[in-house]
Amino acid sequence: MANALNPILLSAHNPSPMTGAGNNTYLLVAEDGSATLIDAGVGAPQHLADLASALDARHARLDSVLVTHGHRDHASGAPAVAGAHAAAVFAKRPWAKEDAQYGVRWRAIDEGDAVAAGGESLIVLHTPGHSPDHLAFWHEPSRTIFTGDLVVEGSSVMIHTSGGGNLVEYLASLERLLALDPRVLLPAHGPTIDDPARTLTGYLRHRLMRERQVVDALCAGHHSVQAITESIYHGLAPALVRAAQENVRAHLEKLKAEGLATTTIDEAGEWRLS
Ligand SMILES: [Zn+2]
Repeated sequence: MANALNPILLSAHNPSPMTGAGNNTYLLVAEDGSATLIDAGVGAPQHLADLASALDARHARLDSVLVTHGHRDHASGAPAVAGAHAAAVFAKRPWAKEDAQYGVRWRAIDEGDAVAAGGESLIVLHTPGHSPDHLAFWHEPSRTIFTGDLVVEGSSVMIHTSGGGNLVEYLASLERLLALDPRVLLPAHGPTIDDPARTLTGYLRHRLMRERQVVDALCAGHHSVQAITESIYHGLAPALVRAAQENVRAHLEKLKAEGLATTTIDEAGEWRLS
């Protein structure tokens, strides 16, 4: 089939409450045996073994690793992959605060670059919001996007404002994906998304609903992140409270950026509608 990518899904074998069943990494192999891995995983022995046997089975060699963003579950496996595949080049969008810890030399890629992968060309999209360095990779002929942590089917994506996340940017990135009219999204967590328009509009609608809830909570006299969170998320498991608070904080920062909420500067971090 012309313009077929045929990505090979390789689990990073790192299941956890935050990563679900574990990260998805994708191997793309060209007819000439050159191969590209999308996301490095965490260096789990089983991931490295699966990668080696997938390459062996196709008489292929790993030439490059494209990393969607600098979070540990996507990037921390880079040194282990480099150790097993010395010729591989590692590429991501620079994020100075995070990149050095991973101990490989990163080649910088950015918005609009075309990168070779699996005998095809992928267009690099800078899609910040989940993290400042977040990239998606767009294969126009098959209308496929490797979406990293922008969407997870059946779940929502964390926006850590304290860790460089930004909800305004995130929503713009979702709108951008939607405007490309993709046919399939290949996320770093969860199953393949075969109905991108439905999933993306569902995400956007869900965020609008949350924003309305945050505004309602402010109107009802809740002014701390904790109180707003408690008023929105009822009966939340203790393990999820921090994640919910990060979400609320992300919405408050968005309202502030839009001039709709202000915060006092004291330690209590009180938020009010302007
Ligand atoms: Zn992430």
